[in-house]
Amino acid sequence: MADCKVETNLAACNCTYEPCARKGRCCECITYHRSMGELPACYFDAAAEKTYDRSISYFVQLNARG
Ligand code: SF4
Repeated sequence: MADCKVETNLAACNCTYEPCARKGRCCECITYHRSMGELPACYFDAAAEKTYDRSISYFVQLNARG
């Protein structure tokens, strides 16, 4: 089993929610948000990420083609 690349993951992580212990641990991050019916921060651009609305419906709204 490969070692978790936490430092590498952190370099690419755009999440601004500071108290989160899952930051850099992408497997825990996506498992948590999936269980909540959500997506992780990295699916959202900087402005959307700062709303902390990680819902799939918000993602779809942002990416809908009109
Ligand atoms: S996206 Fe969610 S679980 Fe992942 S680091 Fe940010 S707050 Fe934590």
